[in-house]
Amino acid sequence: MKQQVFLADESATLALAGKMAKACHTSTTIYLHGDLGAGKTCFSRGFIHGLGFEGRVKSPTYTLVEPYEVGPWRIFHFDLYRLSDPEELEFMGIRDYFEQDCINLIEWPDKGQGLLAPADLIIELAYVDNARSATLTAVSDTGQALITNTLK
Ligand code: ADP
Ligand code: MG
Repeated sequence: MKQQVFLADESATLALAGKMAKACHTSTTIYLHGDLGAGKTCFSRGFIHGLGFEGRVKSPTYTLVEPYEVGPWRIFHFDLYRLSDPEELEFMGIRDYFEQDCINLIEWPDKGQGLLAPADLIIELAYVDNARSATLTAVSDTGQALITNTLK
């Protein structure tokens, strides 16, 4: 299932992400694609706040991953743009990140190909003049349910 959503401004991106977070009730891995500035970090911020995290959500540009704990969830927000060697992910203990109670938001997942958990949902953010669009593609039942419950 593929759905496209128009996002008129930043608050629309945050709102979609927040709604999706509230519809997220199981371990989920989301891949975020899109050019620099397309809104991957913005979406992740809205999602992590939507799960109930009240602190600051920083871009993991230099750290590669930022972990959060909220209620029953462990959230891992990755930005793999600067990953030079996929082995770095092994050193970071990547395998522990894809367990039962984890929600993973992964910017630039192509850089970690072969080492990441498979996506439940792929989100492609694109520029539409000064606004954005999000194309949501489900690649598992979990991803499909997430789209359905977000957009209903
Ligand atoms: P990325 O992580 O993809 O490189 P960021 O999330 O860091 O991008 O930056 C996205 C930028 O685009 C921010 O300046 C944000 O305010 C802006 N933005 C986010 N969503 C929208 C939107 N729907 N329309 C216009 N601008 C947006
Ligand atoms: Mg980013």
